[in-house]
Amino acid sequence: TARRLDGVGSTIFAEMSALAVRTGSVNLGQGFPDVSGPAAAVEVAYDAMRAGRNQYPPGHGSPDLVAAVVRHQRRHYGIELTPEEVVVTTGATEAVAAAVLGLVDPGDEVVVLEPYYDSYRAMVQFAGGVRRPVTLRAPDYRLDAAELEAAVTPRTKLVLLNTPHNPTGHVLSRAELEAVADVARRHDLLVVTDEVYEHLVFDDHRHVPIATLPGMAERTVSISSSGKTFSFTGWKIGWATGPAALVAAVEGAKNWLSYSSGAPFQPAVAHALDHEEDFHRALRDDLATKRDHLCAGLADLGLEVHVPQGTYFTTTDVSALGWEDGEAFCLALPERAGVVAIPSQAFYEAGSAEGRHLVRWAFCKERDVIDQGLRRLRAGR
Ligand code: PMP
Ligand code: GLN
Repeated sequence: TARRLDGVGSTIFAEMSALAVRTGSVNLGQGFPDVSGPAAAVEVAYDAMRAGRNQYPPGHGSPDLVAAVVRHQRRHYGIELTPEEVVVTTGATEAVAAAVLGLVDPGDEVVVLEPYYDSYRAMVQFAGGVRRPVTLRAPDYRLDAAELEAAVTPRTKLVLLNTPHNPTGHVLSRAELEAVADVARRHDLLVVTDEVYEHLVFDDHRHVPIATLPGMAERTVSISSSGKTFSFTGWKIGWATGPAALVAAVEGAKNWLSYSSGAPFQPAVAHALDHEEDFHRALRDDLATKRDHLCAGLADLGLEVHVPQGTYFTTTDVSALGWEDGEAFCLALPERAGVVAIPSQAFYEAGSAEGRHLVRWAFCKERDVIDQGLRRLRAGR
């Protein structure tokens, strides 16, 4: 294998889901809902297939989906975009990959919020870039402006942001985002912001796209996906938006990755964006209830629980149960209890002490699946 694969391993989500299948465990690991997205959108996909939309869609994205993304950004955030300022991708995963490959040169530094989604490590490494992690720490996972400033050097090219944040569930406040914007403007940095959980935010917390802050639209690539908003994770339809020159860089890389994908799913996601606001509102409300339910159940087991502000993950500290190593805990859990969860250290720099004792649990599951998981955990304690 090539050196660019050194240390990136395979994705923890695939590993843990395979373990769940092998051991017949309740899977509270990989973040995918066990209920599909809006039925009307599924019908649009069927119709599109029957109508013959089965060949390559334009690499830039089908015009109907591009237009729906433009409307979505206007409606929710007051962001005005032209079609050139949108590119459709094979999930947010490809949007992140193409943004990093299209914007980062070898030796460029990329600031990431640690813990960070695992593909960021692989993509920065593929680009020959250097990660500069800024760690968000329990219990509140606030971004410290001084630590952010200290991570910036003359070689810094971009900040790779993620809010709502996986795995912590932290939703960056306007003040935290203003600190990022301030640093980005002063040091003339680009921002790539992964906002796939934009609609999955609870209580009084609000998702603020950093592109809406002064002086930021011109330096920001924003990324989202129908996987999280509409529970179509297997369709892999995502998008990136931003100024035409930055989007052209993303598309320049994306052209040589997938080129294009998901022809019949693109009109279906366009339909969902235009007509299914109620779906993700209901999803959010349902997830808030499930969050409370899972968090209460995990706390009853004696775990120290962090209640997330957004996303569909909660983090626990397993040292309260006598486990110092979350990975050892997660590897033993299928045998002990028939449950799978994700060791948070997969989201930290290798050898970091910060995430060692943390474990992430997904609550985007049917109520009885969560209950079964909790029953098994109680029995296997
Ligand atoms: N970014 C984050 C923060 C995620 O949690 C995920 C997983 N959905 C992705 C990107 C990948 O999204 P997609 O499935 O659309 O490729
Ligand atoms: N984003 C999902 C998670 O964090 C997993 C996506 C994947 O498996 N690549 O669990």
